[in-house]
Amino acid sequence: MNQSVRLALLGAVFMLSGFMAVFAVVAPALAADMPPMSDAEKEKIRLIVKEVIREYAASLNEKQGHGAANDIVRDIRQANTNFMRTHGPAHFKPFLDSQHPRATVITCSDSRVHTHALDASPDGDLFMIRNIGNQIVTAEGSVEYGVHHLHTPLLLIIGHSACGAIKAAASDYAKESGPIRRELDTIQIPKGDPGLNSIKLNVNNQVRQAMSKFENEVISGHLTVMGAVYDFRNDMQQGQGRLNIINVNGETDAAKIAAMEMMKETPAHKPMRVMRRPIAKKAPPAEAESEENPPPASEHAKPAKHAPSH
Ligand SMILES: [Zn+2]
Repeated sequence: MNQSVRLALLGAVFMLSGFMAVFAVVAPALAADMPPMSDAEKEKIRLIVKEVIREYAASLNEKQGHGAANDIVRDIRQANTNFMRTHGPAHFKPFLDSQHPRATVITCSDSRVHTHALDASPDGDLFMIRNIGNQIVTAEGSVEYGVHHLHTPLLLIIGHSACGAIKAAASDYAKESGPIRRELDTIQIPKGDPGLNSIKLNVNNQVRQAMSKFENEVISGHLTVMGAVYDFRNDMQQGQGRLNIINVNGETDAAKIAAMEMMKETPAHKPMRVMRRPIAKKAPPAEAESEENPPPASEHAKPAKHAPSH
């Protein structure tokens, strides 16, 4: 509040001094016995007004930006520089000209849900769609793009513990803005239950919608629709940060899901191959040597080859 008051006062001072400067020029012209202003004089006044307003706006932006965005911009730029340092040309090589992601993923926009929880190197690997409440219908075109154009064999819908969108949808959100109301209207859960049951119900609803939308792909076996809850609070008692798979192509029975082939870890087909890139322990062969400037040593593996798309 104090900052706002200071800014408001500063603005008032700027505006006042601007008006005074303008008035000093305009005042003589207001005298009844003065001849009308020439076009040149009017233009001069306009320029002064413009300049004063521009200076005021610039000063205001500078003051407001200082606290709100400057620090985060510096952090983002620094993080990006670090990313460039630790990811050499080999990292980008597999997807320079095209992308072949293995999964279309819909998550909530919530800042506590991110790809590093499920993929150590999501670049070129996950086609990401984010919106409040991890919904199909509010991002339908993007979902279609992933399934129909990129032909990802997996459509993964991820809800999460303590979801604000679920909380809002389970309550009275009539006072929200039109755009927010519209994105909450499509979350079909009972009023008064903002917890895990509604979070799961929403994920299951999304899986059902996806299966209906991509019926042909699911029936032909080209697409698996999976629903999961990312539980960073351990509400489901499966470990903090666990991605709990609760729905596979409409199957919600936990025992049946656990028995599915895709849930088994076998030496021949490690799940790491699907959900995580291997950590580089052995130097990658030929491809990396062809780089003029090999990347600096880092914990990041060269991305695995992508499976051919359908
Ligand atoms: Zn959420």
